[in-house]
Amino acid sequence: MTLIADNLLNRRSFTFDPEAIRADFPILSTTVRGKPLIYLDNGATTQKPRQVIDAMARYYETQNANIHRGVYQLSQDATEAYESARRKVAAFLNAGDEKQVIFTRGTTEGINLVAACWGRKFLKPGDEVVVSAMEHHSNIVPWQIACELTGAVLRVIPINDAGELRMDEYAKLLGPRTKFVSVTHLSNSLGTINDVKTIASMAHKVGAMVLIDGAQWVAHHPTDVQDLDVDFYAFSGHKLFGPTGIGALYGRRGLLEAMPPYQGGGDMIESVTFEKTTYAPLPNKFEAGTPHIAGAIGLGAAIDYLTAIGFDAFAGHEEDLLRYATERLEQVPGLRIVGTAAKKGSVLSFVLEDPAISSLDIGMKLDVEGIAVRTGHHCCQPVMARFGIPSTARASLAMYNTRADIDALAAGLEKIIAAARAPGRYAATAQGALPKAGLNLEVTYPKAAGPSPQAVADDLAEAFEMLGDRDAKNEYVLDLGQKLPHAFDLLKKVTPRVAGCMSEVYLVGRRSPASPEVFEFLADANAEIVRGLIALLQRLYSGQRAADVLAFDIEAFFRRIGLDQFITSQRRNGLAGMIQRIRDTAGRIASAG
Ligand code: PMP
Repeated sequence: MTLIADNLLNRRSFTFDPEAIRADFPILSTTVRGKPLIYLDNGATTQKPRQVIDAMARYYETQNANIHRGVYQLSQDATEAYESARRKVAAFLNAGDEKQVIFTRGTTEGINLVAACWGRKFLKPGDEVVVSAMEHHSNIVPWQIACELTGAVLRVIPINDAGELRMDEYAKLLGPRTKFVSVTHLSNSLGTINDVKTIASMAHKVGAMVLIDGAQWVAHHPTDVQDLDVDFYAFSGHKLFGPTGIGALYGRRGLLEAMPPYQGGGDMIESVTFEKTTYAPLPNKFEAGTPHIAGAIGLGAAIDYLTAIGFDAFAGHEEDLLRYATERLEQVPGLRIVGTAAKKGSVLSFVLEDPAISSLDIGMKLDVEGIAVRTGHHCCQPVMARFGIPSTARASLAMYNTRADIDALAAGLEKIIAAARAPGRYAATAQGALPKAGLNLEVTYPKAAGPSPQAVADDLAEAFEMLGDRDAKNEYVLDLGQKLPHAFDLLKKVTPRVAGCMSEVYLVGRRSPASPEVFEFLADANAEIVRGLIALLQRLYSGQRAADVLAFDIEAFFRRIGLDQFITSQRRNGLAGMIQRIRDTAGRIASAG
């Protein structure tokens, strides 16, 4: 008997044992930074059980061939494995006919497919597409593109302070112009569970089609697209204990048949001549090119795995975990949970407000403890705008998480807060660090740190070289940030936020009153690491001739110090935003002569 089946017998008749499940996930017994991994970023992607990893390896080791093409045995085996995965997805969603299941790269591609194919064919000027204020960008932008191309208009269902859809407002939005409604089943940034069955039936009464974004739902609750009575349903394999690069879109047969293909290429045609091409029947019409065969097989294995455990087996565990986590986090001083809907799934978004600690710093400091949480806007910038915050930290749970994981998270947060409260350890930059008025900016603009940006860069590069590893470099940048004078409140009043940054960053550059060709700047941020990067930029640029600022190749410097080792690409975007501001101002100074 396999480990899983063996465990199951115990599990079904007794209480659910997450430890038995954890044993199936090799990564959950690894260490990060010398600490046992505590993985709380399941909303971003879930970990993979041995059964999924093995199924994919087995395919590559024993079955690898292209599908739908070869007459030889191997190709037929691969085709059967791929198509059997489709049948598994169809059963998993209760989709009925498996031809209504299209393999995609994930939720994003599923939504894009519908917005592109259905939207561009059926939307007319003045038609309305309804999304909600809690959507992931992948359920907003494809519809914006479709609206732009067709002259349709995007309407938005607002949310209340708890992060619940305003169903009264939704009802008001619906009318003869409404042609499509696209909403999430479970919000990735707030945890809200939406009543999609009611949403769909209300939309259908005005003749609108409905798509549900199931990205966050499918790993936690059973899904029945026929019972929900939706027209399209999209999800990603990697959030369902399956591989990345594969997902599925369910669509009603009649709608899929009426839609033009998404992409042209091999496998999606019936016949091709230069005069006319006819398309293959469903589902091939929407699957141009060689698909992610191993991915589909891995997704099928993930569905088998989950189905063998059974949603009913772990529903109570997940509910208990969410309740426990909510209570435990509510006890953390200065922590505020964002998203307090009455019906919530396994997502806990929060901010630390007293003392104010940016979510970026929370994420980095928890990482040191081996705890993985998500920080940022979670691809839901309109949600952040609605709640008036730049970002949140988010713990998202899966069936293999335990109360011990939650305890570790709470203890990690308490440690961060205690350190921030200790005098001199962490200066709260977000509030109260500066007197509100009477600041003399003159004194705080930093002077040149060397004869030219290049000369300073050479010195800095030498220092970085001596530091060696990623942690030491990171520490050094944090130290630089500790010494950066605080100007957050003041700068916030006088300048717009720098675009592209995950944290709040303000930067003011100017011509030096003492020497007209010289550029200088002040900046501050509410995240420690970003303050460090600002200090680094100030050393390189402030007090230097504008022409030298423009001539300096900062990318070469970043490569030299190995910046990518300790700065994530998202933070690189913010850095690029600051450098852009610096170069724009220096450019104006240089060209004014
Ligand atoms: N919708 C929601 C609600 C999500 O959480 C995500 C992933 N964070 C997506 C869509 C996009 O999924 P993917 O990146 O797998 O396409």
